[in-house]
Amino acid sequence: MADEPIDVMVLGGGIAGLGAAWRARELGRSAVVYEARERAGGLLDHFTVDGFRFDQAVHLSFATEPRVRELFDRTPHHTHPSDSRCFETDRWLKHPVQNNLFPLAAADKVALLKSFLARPDAPAGDDYESWLRHQYGDAIAERYPLRYTRKYWDTPAAQLSTAWVGNRMRRAELDEVLLGLVTDETPNTYYTKEMRYPKAGGFRAFIDPLIADTELRTGHRVTAIDTAARTVCFNGGAPVAYRQLVSSLPLPLLATLCTDMPAPVRAHARQLVATSIDLVSVGFDKPLVSDLWFYLYDESIWASRGYSPSVKSPDAAPPGCSSLQFEAYSRGLLSRFEPEALKANTVQALRTLGIARPEDIVVLHHCRLPWGNVVFDQGMETHRDAVRGWLADQGVRTCGRFGEWDYLWSHQSLLSGWNAL
Ligand SMILES: Cc1cc2nc3c(=O)[nH]c(=O)nc-3n(C[C@H](O)[C@H](O)[C@H](O)COP(=O)(O)OP(=O)(O)OC[C@H]3O[C@@H](n4cnc5c(N)ncnc54)[C@H](O)[C@@H]3O)c2cc1C
Repeated sequence: MADEPIDVMVLGGGIAGLGAAWRARELGRSAVVYEARERAGGLLDHFTVDGFRFDQAVHLSFATEPRVRELFDRTPHHTHPSDSRCFETDRWLKHPVQNNLFPLAAADKVALLKSFLARPDAPAGDDYESWLRHQYGDAIAERYPLRYTRKYWDTPAAQLSTAWVGNRMRRAELDEVLLGLVTDETPNTYYTKEMRYPKAGGFRAFIDPLIADTELRTGHRVTAIDTAARTVCFNGGAPVAYRQLVSSLPLPLLATLCTDMPAPVRAHARQLVATSIDLVSVGFDKPLVSDLWFYLYDESIWASRGYSPSVKSPDAAPPGCSSLQFEAYSRGLLSRFEPEALKANTVQALRTLGIARPEDIVVLHHCRLPWGNVVFDQGMETHRDAVRGWLADQGVRTCGRFGEWDYLWSHQSLLSGWNAL
């Protein structure tokens, strides 16, 4: 065991852990960040295949907070309009669909509008399905968001709470729905008007200055934590002592690592579920026309969402080439997709979407993210608070998307780390 305890020991070298170390430095304390992988960055990191660089899922920044902007704006970046579209079986609709139904057949428009006008005045229950039916009416809810929920959350909407919704779902307004039925010249109602992305180096470039300032121990996987003794073991080695522990590791994982966590608290941790994500990354030997990002309602396409790395920044692909990445979601750590079948489904999807032919593809790559989005099962907060409460009682601060166990964007994860001290 080291003679002198680490003053602030931070577990996880994603943006939240880096934010916690930043705050520690500001407070005049010394912090060391321990990261299992060979590089810092966590979900904001990227990988490269045959000259094509891919982030790990869409990643665009719409941060407004001065502290975050002060960091991110040090990196030269592109600014994109936040326009996106949705694919429904045989047609593209602007996002959000309920405000952009113009391309539908007249009879469909009448049916959706009648159902919208007859929507319930209040949700029938606290669950997400009731909320959707109340917002949009049965016909729109069933044709679009309920369908999308099965793909994106891999969970029935009736099982989910609405705690995560915030500004992620546009509330239905009669004027907006009517306008979108009669014209395709509708305004962009997305919750942010612009999306920023580094000109070079992928999304991670936004946090490169922070990484450069951080004392990092990469290749250090936490294998045991003893909160009573205030020690952590890495890669099965000897205990390392700390004065203050900050963790950005996923709570269910942390629960398995804390050797002194009581069984009832562990039982709460086992109730916490996140989605995992299969990423299919595709490189093309020619420039292709694509949206910055898009939603896929069509069930014959297994991915829920796609985006173009080379539209985010041309430096993501070799000259004259272009790229896309598709995200397919599963509830829990195990995938519901077989990788080769998912790749074949993606190639077929490219045809269906009218974006590319198989002969245009020069890179077709699959990988997995074990921790994607926190699932807001009804009552989840009780379990989360029990786990975080016990950890807080032991003096362990938890931060970030998986330490707070919340639907945090990158800027929120950074501030979560900052606020942990
Ligand atoms: C599909 C998807 C799309 C997203 N799109 C956007 C977007 O467009 N814009 C945006 O702002 N945000 C986006 N986000 C959110 C953003 O990715 C997160 O808020 C942020 O990256 C979370 O950072 P974190 O540090 O909390 O977690 P992570 O980045 O997961 O960091 C945790 C770190 O802990 C490490 N670790 C795990 N286990 C151990 C162990 N045993 N020992 C040591 N280290 C360990 C991991 O390797 C990792 O580096 C998206 C997220 C997802 C999933």
